[in-house]
Amino acid sequence: MKTVIIGGGASGMTAAIFSAKKGDETVILEHNDRPGKKILSTGNGRCNLSNKSLKTDIDSHFADLGCSDRVFYKNVIDRFGIDDTMNFFEELGLMMKDRGNLVYPLSDQASSVLDVLRFAADERGVKIITSCNVSAIQRAGNHGFDIETDKGRFSCDKLIIATGSKAAPSTGSDGSGYVLATALGHTINDVRPGLVQLRSGEAWLKSVAGVRSSVKLTLSDAGKSIYSESGELQFTDYGLSGIVAMDISNRLTLCHDNASVHIDLMPDMDSDLLKDALDRRRSVFPDRKASDMISGMLNKKLGLMLLKRSGIKQDTLSKDIPQNALYRMADIIKDLSVRIDGTNGFREAQICLGGIPCGELTDDLESRIVPHLYFCGEILDLHGDCGGYNLQLAWSTGAIAGKA
Ligand SMILES: Cc1cc2nc3c(=O)[nH]c(=O)nc-3n(C[C@H](O)[C@H](O)[C@H](O)COP(=O)(O)OP(=O)(O)OC[C@H]3O[C@@H](n4cnc5c(N)ncnc54)[C@H](O)[C@@H]3O)c2cc1C
Repeated sequence: MKTVIIGGGASGMTAAIFSAKKGDETVILEHNDRPGKKILSTGNGRCNLSNKSLKTDIDSHFADLGCSDRVFYKNVIDRFGIDDTMNFFEELGLMMKDRGNLVYPLSDQASSVLDVLRFAADERGVKIITSCNVSAIQRAGNHGFDIETDKGRFSCDKLIIATGSKAAPSTGSDGSGYVLATALGHTINDVRPGLVQLRSGEAWLKSVAGVRSSVKLTLSDAGKSIYSESGELQFTDYGLSGIVAMDISNRLTLCHDNASVHIDLMPDMDSDLLKDALDRRRSVFPDRKASDMISGMLNKKLGLMLLKRSGIKQDTLSKDIPQNALYRMADIIKDLSVRIDGTNGFREAQICLGGIPCGELTDDLESRIVPHLYFCGEILDLHGDCGGYNLQLAWSTGAIAGKA
């Protein structure tokens, strides 16, 4: 039995190791000059390779995830879960550590993860052909495939498409997998950038560009709250960045109209306490300028922006700030609204939303349209948040397709 895998990324390498382990002659066709380029940029070069919360808390993870097929996702994790992944990497020789639920290589180097995958593929006789772009696939009779590449034609009995998405195309995932899948009769659910920065035309953002703040961020659609997350937010001149903003970007597809986010800049203090604190500062420092009165309480740039939005002049003395203006500022601190006009593009995205609909695949990730054709990794319409969930999907789907 000969199996060809198109794409030598996280899912393709995993699929190859499992395919070769069960004795198939296994070949990876990779159009970069080396496999696993995207793995190297994951987790800021440290590779957050899994998330142990999927072991215990899978339902609450799905509850608010804008993922097209939760049942299928859950089935994938049930079939090759966190313990299987830990065992797989341990067998490959990777030592790992946890940061909370997040799993990293002990070395803190993404290259360690790629190295053990490469070594294992090599030890099991997987042939990796690099600088080899697949441009077309033909079915050879009732079973088998002929694959056109710029290094000639390859034939196989079983084919796995593991070409990734369109996110971060400089790493090799240029969307060509969608074209190959469509030509074989598959449909592609709308592909959009995911885990990506949010864009907004709000002019005041420029005044706070570069500020990082621990916040609670809430996405709302036409005034209705649909998702909240706490964490570090980064203001940029075009919008919002940081893990909380990127997780929110995965849920913009849930909004029908007028998406906005609401930032609670002091999530640990309720509104009444905050108003008391502002009252107290005003009475303790009556002769300080407004800008000095709030200094020591908030980031300076944020403080100046908040004064302006509350209609308080920076050099007004604290004792002269009207009560309603002071409380207006408290209200804005607890609920700073930002209109969302869109996101950055595929170049900046960490993943793609959309892809091959899970309904077109069996539980083994075999095509229901073309027998002996399999898919794994991000080309599928499955995704997760920041925190190791997407690589976990790559390992899980790669293992399932490779075993099959
Ligand atoms: C900057 C960044 C940081 C990230 N950090 C994390 C993280 O810390 N944790 C996490 O869980 N996820 C992270 N992700 C997401 C994660 O990396 C991906 O979800 C995962 O790598 C997808 O694996 P894949 O095998 O499906 O696709 P890829 O890893 O993209 O692999 C696809 C491979 O197919 C090859 N290919 C494509 N088309 C063809 C063709 N026509 N012919 C031949 N070869 C082809 C490509 O060159 C590529 O090597 C991050 C992503 C980015 C961009």
